[in-house]
Amino acid sequence: MSGGASIDLLRRRIAAAFLCLGLLAAECLLAGQAGAVERSRRGELKRVLVLHSFGREFRPWSEYARDIKAELERQSPWPLDIQEHALLTARFNNPGPEAPFVDYLHSLYQGATPDVVVSIGAPAARFAQKHRARLFPNAPLILAAVEHRLIDRADLGDNDVVVAVRNDFVAAFDNILRILPDTKSVAIVIGASPLETFWMEELKRELKPFAERIELVWYSDLSFEEILKRSSQLPAQTALFWGLMSVDAAGVVYESDWALRSLRAVANAPIFSYQEPFFGDGTVGGPMQLIAETTSRTVSAAIGILGGAKPASINYEPIAFAAPRYDWRELQRWGISESSLPPGSVILFREPSIWQRYQWQMLMIAAVFLVQAGLISGLLHERRGRRLAEVESRQRLAELAHVNRHSAVGELTTSIAHELNQPLGSILTNAETAELMLNSAQPDLVEVRHILADIRRDDQRASEVIRRLRSVLKKTPFEVSNIELNDTVREAIDLVKALALGRRITLSYEPALTDLRIKGDPIQLQQVILNLIINAMDAISDAGSGKREVSVSTLRAGNQAEIKVADTGPGIPASDLASLFDPFFTTKPQGMGMGLAIARTIVEAHHGTIVGANQPAGGALFTIRLPTAQ
Ligand code: ADP
Repeated sequence: MSGGASIDLLRRRIAAAFLCLGLLAAECLLAGQAGAVERSRRGELKRVLVLHSFGREFRPWSEYARDIKAELERQSPWPLDIQEHALLTARFNNPGPEAPFVDYLHSLYQGATPDVVVSIGAPAARFAQKHRARLFPNAPLILAAVEHRLIDRADLGDNDVVVAVRNDFVAAFDNILRILPDTKSVAIVIGASPLETFWMEELKRELKPFAERIELVWYSDLSFEEILKRSSQLPAQTALFWGLMSVDAAGVVYESDWALRSLRAVANAPIFSYQEPFFGDGTVGGPMQLIAETTSRTVSAAIGILGGAKPASINYEPIAFAAPRYDWRELQRWGISESSLPPGSVILFREPSIWQRYQWQMLMIAAVFLVQAGLISGLLHERRGRRLAEVESRQRLAELAHVNRHSAVGELTTSIAHELNQPLGSILTNAETAELMLNSAQPDLVEVRHILADIRRDDQRASEVIRRLRSVLKKTPFEVSNIELNDTVREAIDLVKALALGRRITLSYEPALTDLRIKGDPIQLQQVILNLIINAMDAISDAGSGKREVSVSTLRAGNQAEIKVADTGPGIPASDLASLFDPFFTTKPQGMGMGLAIARTIVEAHHGTIVGANQPAGGALFTIRLPTAQ
């Protein structure tokens, strides 16, 4: 029972293995078939023969060929073998026999007919039409970039597609006259190959209506060298019309782009052309044939044919000029206004303005300027605020100083009373004497006159005391004027003279021998000096013995004026030296401690310095330094 069961199991396993193998084989087969289909669809190489008219690098056709090839390769679902041949014979005025070239192509394509033949330009189209029966009998032919007038319609068959263009010379010349209305003549640059001769005749025919308006100058019978010479000396209001230059009248062959560049380099007139391949290389612009139009039709025809479409089913109208395009650089060069361009024009090659080119740099600079301007205005504002604060503080200072002066003057009261008493007493005595004299029988009038003069002098002395007192008590704002410091100090000394006398102190003054001109407020400075003198006199105690002297002097030290106030008091304790000028620092029982603080503020407002020190021989010495006026 177990042996039969195991054989049965083995049989079933073998059957399962065969089934798997079968499935695998079927899968491989299917995959192989699908791969073959894919290969046949994608892997089939398509052979494209491109026939050039003048050469592979000959404008305008070189540009068409390049664009068509690139687009074909981009769009083709099949791998492409693009083979190219150029009909150099089309360059020559008297082309030699084509037979050897045809034989060469025949040997190449015998038995290997291309899948499609694309001719670029009229000479290539003619050649292909002429020799197709021998070279590639059944190959479809696309005649691309050929002017419709140059197509041999009689030779067209079911296997042909025409991608033609239509040149409209009237539109091209209308454009010249529209944007340069003063144009008097147009010189037409065109070579002498059979194709160029054909076009010259066409131009002559089409441009007949312009002959009345402008002079048409034909350069077709000139060597290119001569054309260059003439183009450099054209009269004003002339334009150049660039047709083509493949072979000149002297039989010399040119590459068109080189020829155009040479012409552009010497020409003294604007150059016009109707071909996009020449646009951007020195031609002004206007309505023109665009490469892309021909490319898109040619490529879609080629792809269609390679995919099995019938050439006869593909029909295109000749391509007309596109909307006008202009080269901005040429417009600038010839002073052509953009407003004269027809509506819908496109301007290309516009050079960016300085602003567009350096936009972010300029923005950066502007930002820096703005920030700087902001900072400057902020600083100015700050400065103004500081000035205002300074004025304000000076005002406060003046007020404080005024109060301080009142207190100083309080100390002077006795001496002022004494000073006033003297002249007033003399006046009274003199007046009484004069009265007595006038009462006598024969008054001595001369003497009376003397007495009256004395009275007047005493009166003036009393008035002077009052004036000085008033001026020192005057409440004035801080006012700077040109002053002579010797006089200012003297006036201050005059005020305290009597006080010194009362205290039995010798007050001496030694002014500088030269003028000390400074800029300052005389009242404020007098207050400083008064303070220093009163402090000096306070320091000399009544009880003390020894010399009782306060000496004031002024001198000039370079560009500074100095005032020194020295006394024979005890001097300043070393520990107090640092706090002398602090507000409310005082060692006097009735002191306010504001005198020196105010003095320093006043001196500093005059851009000066004040220091207090002890003299070696004893006593304090205060020195004020002020800048002299320039
Ligand atoms: P006040 O006269 O009201 O005390 P000041 O500011 O004028 O205030 O003076 C401050 C202090 O400086 C005085 O109290 C005194 O101690 C000291 N001082 C000023 N001048 C002299 C001087 N010539 N000799 C000694 N000490 C002085």
